[in-house]
Amino acid sequence: MSSQRLLLLFTLVLALLLKIGVSNAQESHEHGHATLNVVADGDQFFIKLESPAVNLVGFEHEPESDDQQAAIDKSTARLLDYRSLINLPEKAHCQIVDKSANWILDPEHDNHAEFHASYRFKCNLTNLDSIGLKLFDYFPGIEEIDAQILFPDIQLAVELDAQNKSIQLR
Ligand SMILES: [Zn+2]
Repeated sequence: MSSQRLLLLFTLVLALLLKIGVSNAQESHEHGHATLNVVADGDQFFIKLESPAVNLVGFEHEPESDDQQAAIDKSTARLLDYRSLINLPEKAHCQIVDKSANWILDPEHDNHAEFHASYRFKCNLTNLDSIGLKLFDYFPGIEEIDAQILFPDIQLAVELDAQNKSIQLR
């Protein structure tokens, strides 16, 4: 198979996996858990985090007070402050390309909401041997993260928690 066809195949598998990941996340929104998808894309990679909102702010309904709105804003700001949450090895020379963080009320389920955050980095991917997460330090309500890693040469599914906060890639 030519490398171009391989790339196409990889992209198709990726699209499928991401789709499955998204629908699973909606079905299995489980308080205390969060999901993390890490996917390579050329010389970049992106991280997508989805967590039930209760893990970060303690509630999932529309904010009913200034304090609750402030809690949402504070968590959103923390999620955008990627340096405080994600540890990447210096030798990979990663640079942030794009980031986002949002509070999302679930339109289909009353009283469920999530935070979604995504980060895109440009790196020397061959030197990216680990991804450390400091989310547990700031959000003790996140007890476990189900992480899926999809790189052309590495496919991994790992469970992370406060005792095991780092994804080993190589
Ligand atoms: Zn919920």
